[in-house]
Amino acid sequence: MTPRLWAVVALGGLVIALLVAAALLVPWHRPPAPRPDQLAALRDLPAAQVSRGRAFHAALRPGSYGALAVGLLVALVLGLTPLGARLVELGGRPFGDHWVARALVGGLAIVLVAELATLPFAAWRHTVMVKYGLSTQSWSGWGVDVLKSYAVSAVIGAVALLGFYTITRFAPRWWWAFGAAGAAGLVVLLSFVVPVLIEPVFNKFTPMEPGPQRTELMALAERDGVPVRDVLVADASRRTRAVNAYVSGLGPTRRIVVYDTLLREAPPAEVASVVAHELGHAKDRDVFTGTLIGALGAAAAVIALYVLGGWGWLLRAAGVDSMGEPRALALMVAIVSVVGLASAPVQSLVSRRVEARADQHALELTGDPATFEAMQRRLSTVNLGDPDPPRWEYLYSASHPSTVERMAAARAYARGER
Ligand SMILES: [Zn+2]
Repeated sequence: MTPRLWAVVALGGLVIALLVAAALLVPWHRPPAPRPDQLAALRDLPAAQVSRGRAFHAALRPGSYGALAVGLLVALVLGLTPLGARLVELGGRPFGDHWVARALVGGLAIVLVAELATLPFAAWRHTVMVKYGLSTQSWSGWGVDVLKSYAVSAVIGAVALLGFYTITRFAPRWWWAFGAAGAAGLVVLLSFVVPVLIEPVFNKFTPMEPGPQRTELMALAERDGVPVRDVLVADASRRTRAVNAYVSGLGPTRRIVVYDTLLREAPPAEVASVVAHELGHAKDRDVFTGTLIGALGAAAAVIALYVLGGWGWLLRAAGVDSMGEPRALALMVAIVSVVGLASAPVQSLVSRRVEARADQHALELTGDPATFEAMQRRLSTVNLGDPDPPRWEYLYSASHPSTVERMAAARAYARGER
């Protein structure tokens, strides 16, 4: 068998593994959230709040979709014409066209061009957030965040680029196998290190102050049978008024984080409801599931890129000889961008199902649907949410059930529907 045939077989195996993992680990069954309850919940929300949330999202839309469109356009122009390959060559020129310089300098130049092209849209979104009072950040604070995220991308990108092109150089026929293992390993590594190395670049995390609220939350975790060392508080108020909480990390780096804004805005019972939702993520090992699916997907993507490298017309369009050379990076970015945009609805669907299960967990753990519903109303009000967003946008990009769905789920739970 040739390396190419082995690659096709391995790709088939990974796709099957991905489908099996998704079938077994994603909670496809959705807890009831009847539409009549959703409409009743919508009527119960103050009309002024609903229209303000809708106006906010309408104002954000040109920035969001403009960035998507321009990002895709830039990726396609660089990847499907020889422009991207030329940019990579240019990056290597001051260093005698050495492959390491092409991989690192040229590769990071491709990433930077794509980022810079969408920067004006990010700035536009920032002005909207300031106008609506959601952002508390000055332009300098915002600019520092942009620079920090570029720096983080550059470090991770440099490791990935250098690793990948070392492999393609020294194993020209089998790089797909080592590359797939490396990509999967990088996804797993990032899940472990993001909470301890990357999140602290943007926020300060402090253990929650000892007191009745902390005692109550730790007791809640104990009752749930989820070992939690600490609840961390993030200083989110430095950039936003929005309230939120999340779980990140794996094993020894797993943590539950609440925004300081949440502790300020919400009464203790609602904070407990939010934490109960996060405990649901921890108990159902949602970070592990996401990491496993991400790792399998990354490995499959590397092999798929190798297989696509057999399509002569793609290589000719990009003006390159093989998928494994640094000059073909823009072509890879273009393919990954198209697949990413096309698969967004599936990723959103999976995320919504996982989130609905965590909501159900919060309802069961607290046994308090009234507080859960009050918390959802507060989240939507403070975060300027659209409680019942347009169907197309919901299907394309909503990572969570809508506010009215979550309120309806609480009402169905209160009636004993499971
Ligand atoms: Zn969640």
